Amino acid sequence: MVNYETVVGLEVHMQINTKSKVFCECSTQFGAEPNINTCVICTSQPGAIPILNKKAVEAIVKTGLALDFNINKQCTFARKQYFYPDVPKNYQITQSEPPLCSRGKLTISVGGKEKVVNITRIHLEEDAGKLVHEIGSRKLGYSLLDLNRASVGLMELVTEPELSSPEETLEFLTELKNIVGYLGTSECSMEEGKMRCDVNVSIRPVGQKELGARVEIKNMNSLSGIRDAITYEVERQKEVLESNGKLVQETRLWEAEEGVTKSMRSKEGALDYRYFPEPDLVPFDLPDSFIEELRKQIPELPKARKARFIKDYGLSEYDADYLTSTRTIADYYEGALNYSKDKKVLAKPLSNWISTELSAKLNAAKVCISESPVSSQNLAKLVSLILNGTISGKIAKTVFEEMYEKSSDPETIVKEKELSQISDETVITKMCEESIAESPKAVAEFRSGKERAVDAIVGLVMKRSKGQANPQIVNRILLEKLKV
Ligand SMILES: [Zn+2]
Repeated sequence: MVNYETVVGLEVHMQINTKSKVFCECSTQFGAEPNINTCVICTSQPGAIPILNKKAVEAIVKTGLALDFNINKQCTFARKQYFYPDVPKNYQITQSEPPLCSRGKLTISVGGKEKVVNITRIHLEEDAGKLVHEIGSRKLGYSLLDLNRASVGLMELVTEPELSSPEETLEFLTELKNIVGYLGTSECSMEEGKMRCDVNVSIRPVGQKELGARVEIKNMNSLSGIRDAITYEVERQKEVLESNGKLVQETRLWEAEEGVTKSMRSKEGALDYRYFPEPDLVPFDLPDSFIEELRKQIPELPKARKARFIKDYGLSEYDADYLTSTRTIADYYEGALNYSKDKKVLAKPLSNWISTELSAKLNAAKVCISESPVSSQNLAKLVSLILNGTISGKIAKTVFEEMYEKSSDPETIVKEKELSQISDETVITKMCEESIAESPKAVAEFRSGKERAVDAIVGLVMKRSKGQANPQIVNRILLEKLKV
């Protein structure tokens, strides 16, 4: 038996987050009526000349800077030629040699081990249109063409073949999505097709230097699909080699429902595309000041922010990981902390409320935290009300429900509904005495050494107080009374 190792390289297409397309003024809005967002340029009418969107170049350079790339100042475009009905020009305009960004890297961490993954390049490309062969589940028997997506700007990122498992691949993509999300240069939503990923998979006997025959897999539309496709493909390749078969370089499609990859075509090489310089876009140089200005705009990135959360707020690795998983969550959290004088005291309970109660509500309603009906200030107030003993944790959940429904202020809710915790010892003592009198059995059990019997009496006091008695005080007074 030969031991094989897996080699994975990625080609990731991310839709650049701009309002208009990359070579015309049409909108990039998702889900619009077919062919609404089109003009003479993106439908390739004779004589129409592309005009480069500066914001798209900025987004790529910014992404490159955040991933330690060398930025190539020279910007040139080429035509990548092929015939397919969704590309009316019969070529795609692609930013070509040199790519805007070359030789970057991203550090991932899998199973507690860090690994630097080298990234070959990022370049600018325009998207193609979309062919529609069925509407809902109805097969049309003919094809319709929607050019809304034609000429939408993409950044194409290509890694070196350095990933060695489905887990590493997923970690790389998650980390990449996270960084790009912090930068705001792409939304990376795989569901909306704003992030697409082709995966090159090969295997080789452990210790061999040369790469095996490379198979490109397309058609995955989720991270779990990518993981399953790699796992399947590695097994398939092993079986071919172990039965003395020969692997060929090809493109295969992932069929999610069947859980298999199927051969689509032999892989075309770069020569087949007959690249040549795009005559309608003049090569130009990026000024140093342009690059430096973008460098200044790079925000604190997820790793650095996570380290700071741990150091400044005393959070655990786990909590900090969750809170920095997107920039919007991290901003919400720090926004809330800013309302408190003692951030360290609020830090942990606030983190718990965000990762449990709030995120459960938001996920169920598919609402982003930046649009949360509970503002960061109101959540900070609610947690403070628990910390200073005004309300109990249990009552806080009732208050939270109302805050979520009506976007209201917790202090107002507590006041209007008279939900403040009862800490007045005279009042609590009276309730304790009444409850003891009602529970001769529990009292006898407690006095015969069964200490847990006190819980039943605590429950009775809490019921009497409608959940508002301060449980610590109730416990203390009950024990004092019972131990007499
Ligand atoms: Zn257009």
